[in-house]
Amino acid sequence: MKTIGLLGGMSWESTLEYYRIINERMKSKLGGEHSAEVVIYSFDFYDIVKLQEEGDWKRLEDMMVKAGEGLKEAGADFLLICANTMNKMADSVEERVGLPVIHIGDATAEVIKKRGMDTVGLVGTRYVMEGEFYRRRMKDRHGIEVLVPEQENREKVHDIIYNELCKGQVKEKSKDSLLKMIQELVDRGAEGIILGCTEIPLYITEEDVDIPLFDTTAIHAEAAVDRAFEDD
Ligand code: GLU
Repeated sequence: MKTIGLLGGMSWESTLEYYRIINERMKSKLGGEHSAEVVIYSFDFYDIVKLQEEGDWKRLEDMMVKAGEGLKEAGADFLLICANTMNKMADSVEERVGLPVIHIGDATAEVIKKRGMDTVGLVGTRYVMEGEFYRRRMKDRHGIEVLVPEQENREKVHDIIYNELCKGQVKEKSKDSLLKMIQELVDRGAEGIILGCTEIPLYITEEDVDIPLFDTTAIHAEAAVDRAFEDD
């Protein structure tokens, strides 16, 4: 079985979920005392957020690469960047570290296609909703149209993610606004919604809405377990 390398801590709240989901899935596949072989590098999220705000994506890429090399040295066979936002540099990390990186958008697109959908909504950080690396990739590689909230709501969800979700909380009012944004995307034609921030699934689940949700944390973590069983 392959060893899974996790670039985590973005935030640690969601990295915990990755670790839990990966081990639970491995246990359900193998039974008994089995668990996954995992190596984790967990960043200080303060540093990540600061560099994102400064727009220093080059420095962030260098940090991902350095940590990825450490995971490779520790035995990782492939890597996951445990956040939608930081998958912005997934391709460069893959190339520079010399290990496959499972792109969170690709893993999510595969699940969307299996459900037979071609138009979905997306909520996530501003970087994810506005960046080419996510929506363009979904369209060009997978033929999936991705709708995002209007500008004002994009700002709102971005602030909720950094000021509340990544700090382990959500105000009732913020949850209501997220649910309203999801409904607006449905009204515009979304057949399902990508929870494109790895902390959102901690607070919004299918019990809250009447539409299929694509939980990127679970999808990405499950893709890692499937990959761990694949031959090269
Ligand atoms: N975990 C979030 C995501 O999935 C946001 C944190 C970050 O900026 O990396 O995008």
